[in-house]
Amino acid sequence: MKGTMAGLVKRVPGPGSFEYRTDLPIPVIGDDEVLIKVKCTAICGTDIHIIDWDPWSQKRVRAPVVPGHETSGVIVETGKNVTDRRPGDRVSCEPHIPCGNCWFCRNGLPHICSNIRLLGVTEDGAFAEYMKIRASSTFLLDDEISFEQACLLEPMGAGVHGAEAAEPKGRIVLVSGCGPIGLAAISACKTMGATAVIACDLLEEKRSLALAMGADVFVNSAESDVIAEVMHLTNSIGADAAIDITGSGAAIRNGLKCVRAAGRFVGVGLPTKNVELDLANDLIYREIEFTGISGRRIWKTWEDFAMVMKGPYFKADLVTGNSYPLSEYEKAFAEVRTGAAGKVILCP
Ligand SMILES: [Zn+2]
Ligand SMILES: [Zn+2]
Repeated sequence: MKGTMAGLVKRVPGPGSFEYRTDLPIPVIGDDEVLIKVKCTAICGTDIHIIDWDPWSQKRVRAPVVPGHETSGVIVETGKNVTDRRPGDRVSCEPHIPCGNCWFCRNGLPHICSNIRLLGVTEDGAFAEYMKIRASSTFLLDDEISFEQACLLEPMGAGVHGAEAAEPKGRIVLVSGCGPIGLAAISACKTMGATAVIACDLLEEKRSLALAMGADVFVNSAESDVIAEVMHLTNSIGADAAIDITGSGAAIRNGLKCVRAAGRFVGVGLPTKNVELDLANDLIYREIEFTGISGRRIWKTWEDFAMVMKGPYFKADLVTGNSYPLSEYEKAFAEVRTGAAGKVILCP
């Protein structure tokens, strides 16, 4: 397809907003790629970092670049080697684009590829009318998942990946932190058969959200002693697994003490500084497994999340915010900066 399109651009390296342009060339696809007509793209914290040009962006962003990576759309064109995708397919995309050749890619771990490329960071992304991507990085959507829901698969997938790592079936799981990723983890644990999910957060307003997403118990950690509550609920044994979404040192230390001996601790949230732990007493002596989570497993997490989304616990409307046309991007980004509760979405 030839012609021009509307889209946002981070034009030069350095702090500064995106530019709205209507004269961007429609991407030309390679033999293994597809052209996608973008329907919805959610705004991520990463996009704000790119505008502010934080140290993470300074190291990774290849400007000029079209940002945007939490996306969904319809395939309109396929390269000549693409046999399993066709025009009209509704898709979402995995924005971590693995190399396919490194040790990790060749051993079933492409999500932690050592040469990873990132849609909307190192490659032109999805805040535009059209985008191109390798066909193997697209995830087919069935009709039960809307385009708005589909752009939650990527950002909240880390929560579902955390739930997978906790192996929740038949287990009692503690989820610390009830933002969108925590809510995804809660609903995933329940969908995957957790006996009980205990959710905790410092904010009382998270109680109704956590319970609506399937949590059996909510503990307000600003008012109650989480460890005492978990011990009370588990006959003083402790939870089988804990998933930390907060990245807070205090929550991680508490979470470890809530896990029973030989249980599992899953770290999803990223601490912004070093966290001091009592390794001897809280981990080693009690044979606790500590597992880190990075992104989503390709494609296991996607398949699982699609199932969670269609199940009885996940409520997309509780985590979706307002939608704006692409041209009103300034309003949308301003809303994100106010700390809007749900994911704000741009629709070209
Ligand atoms: Zn993101
Ligand atoms: Zn690789």
